[in-house]
This record gives sequence, structure tokens and C-alpha cells, in this order.
Amino acid sequence: MGRHGSSMPAAGSTVVGDLHIVALAGGVGGAKLVQGLAHLLPPAQLRIIVNTGDDFEHLGLSISPDVDTVMYTLAGLANPETGWGIADETFHCLETLTRLGGPAWFRLGDRDLAIHLLRTEKLRAGIRLTEVTHQLATALGVHHALLPMTDDPFRTMVVTPGGELSFQEYFVHQKCRPIVQGFRWEHSDNAGPTPEVLAALDWADAVVVCPSNPYVSVDPILALHGVRDAVRAKPVVAVSPIIGGAAVKGPAAKMLQELEGGASALAVAAHYGNLLSAFVLDSVDASLAPAVRDLGVEVLVAQTLMPGLEERVALARVVLTLAASVVDGTARFTACARRRD
Ligand code: GDP
Ligand code: CA
Repeated sequence: MGRHGSSMPAAGSTVVGDLHIVALAGGVGGAKLVQGLAHLLPPAQLRIIVNTGDDFEHLGLSISPDVDTVMYTLAGLANPETGWGIADETFHCLETLTRLGGPAWFRLGDRDLAIHLLRTEKLRAGIRLTEVTHQLATALGVHHALLPMTDDPFRTMVVTPGGELSFQEYFVHQKCRPIVQGFRWEHSDNAGPTPEVLAALDWADAVVVCPSNPYVSVDPILALHGVRDAVRAKPVVAVSPIIGGAAVKGPAAKMLQELEGGASALAVAAHYGNLLSAFVLDSVDASLAPAVRDLGVEVLVAQTLMPGLEERVALARVVLTLAASVVDGTARFTACARRRD
């Protein structure tokens, strides 16, 4: 499958030698950069860790929105208008559901439904989400490791003045209208990252934080036991999801405004703080570069809007070149430090 499949790398496109890269991704923003990275790096050099904090159960189905967005994008199946869901989708099931008085707030497409049906059945048979995702992705022609952050139930809860809302309730049902006061991760005591996630972080030479929502796409991954420390131990390059004070899509700017008192790429860099080695700012935000550098973070200014494959590959190339230079700098620094011993 995959009419515009892009998960196999273009021949002869080595930008970073044999560097091992782990990308942290949410849905739409994450999927765009991941598609560019997957175009440049073979599966042996790229593993993708995806947020599952938005996962939920609907009509008895287990739905993993961010995993599916990345999977559909890499498979070349994503709806180019929305960035999520499947292209050429129909909604006959939803129409009948609505006629029957069933819930219509979550837009379940007919093609999309097949994934949820099969995922749900496999999970019920006791197969881990990681393995289920591997099976579905492979069947769709995606060969890069797509790793759900955890196999355990983990739910992002949004704290609002009216009480806590599940992420889907806040995002889809209430259309992000309530003011956000914070977040809470709902999971069992023993919930943790998968062995595959920990192995990937150990294997990585550098970590790329995609331009995903810092609060509800990246922070849940970092909140899993041991992940933040494992990421911090590596060179980390992040791309700003905020361009010119606004989100390309979604509530990231509204959340930054409500939680940090201002929405800017600088606020994103400050939010990640000492996790970052380098930060990619959009050219419209070039004036913020000195303030980001003051945080002790290397800065690179680039075009970060990624409507199509061309822009995604171009930005991925910038990010990988930056990652290679940070890794190189770290290697030289380590060698220097060793020489001084
Ligand atoms: P979600 O789970 O679908 O909300 O997806 P993510 O968390 O991965 O992405 C949402 C973020 O992606 C938003 O903050 C957007 O501003 C950002 N985003 C979307 N498209 C682009 C783009 O082309 N460039 C950049 N830099 N950010 C983007
Ligand atoms: Ca999401």
C-alpha cells in the first residue's frame, strides 16, 4: 500500500553518516518532520517514539490518534487537508451511527475504522500495543520503527477551572475552549516506557524533538519513568511548533499563553529548558535567537513551515545536519575532557 509512500529513504542521500536518530513525536506536527526524516534515513538509522497520552476508548474501540497520524503519514495515506485521518475518506458508518442516536463528536472514518477494529481485537487477544502497531505499520508499508511510548494505559488529563477533562473531551468535544491550568498524567503505578523505547534511547546518538505540542504531545513521553533522564543524556535538537507567536494548528499557542503568560518560540525553548542542546527557530522568529542562546541552547534559524514533502525533507536535512554537528561537538568535547584526565 502507500500510494505516495515515503518511508523508504531516497537513494544516496547521506546527510549524517551512520548516525542513529530517535524522534519524539505527537500527531500532525510530529508526523510532518518524521516524514522528512524517514525520507533521509533508512530504518536502521531512525526510530520514532510516539505519544499515546491522547489514546482513548470510543464505542468499544481502542484509538491511538497520534500513532495513527504518524503511521498514515509515513504510509503516504494521510489526508493532505487535515494532516490526520486517511485521504479519500468516507463517513457512512458515522452517518448511520448519528441516525441511530450514537455519538458523532469523534469523526470516525470508514477506512480509519478498519485500523481501530483490528487494533482493538489484537489488544484484546493480549498482544502489546507496540507489537500491534508494528503489525499494522508493516502491513501499510511503513518500515521505520514506530514505537508507542508505553504499552500501559496512560491518559493526559487537562486541568481546567471547571475540573479535569480527558484530553479528547477537552480537544474534540469542547474544542479547546476551557482555560488550561495544568495537566495530570493518569496511569497505574507501574506504567512505564516500553523496553523498545528505552532501548531506542540507549541506541540513539541524538534525539530530535519534533515540532509537536510541548505539553500534550512531548511532555507525556518525557513523563514516563526514566525517559527524561535518558533523553537528557543525549544531544537533543528540537524544532519550534510555534511560528511568529502562533501555532500552525491546534491549542499549543493558547496553552503557552495560559500557562506561561506568552506564546512564542522562546517560551517553548524555555519550557524544555536544560533538555535541549539546540533549537530550530523559524526565520520569522530570528530576533528571538539571542534570547534562546541565553538559555544555553545552540540556535539555528530555518524555514520551519512544512506543508508538503519538499519542505519536510528540507527541514529534516537542516535538523540532521545540526544534530550531526552537536554530536560531533559533544564527541570532541568528550575527547578533550578525556585528554585532560
Ligand atoms: P497533534 O497531536 O495532531 O496535535 O500534533 P502535534 O502535537 O504533533 O502537533 C501540533 C503542533 O504542530 C502545533 O503546535 C503546530 O503548531 C505544529 N505544527 C503543525 N504543522 C507544523 C509545521 O509545518 N511546522 C512547524 N514548525 N510546526 C507545525
Ligand atoms: Ca495528539
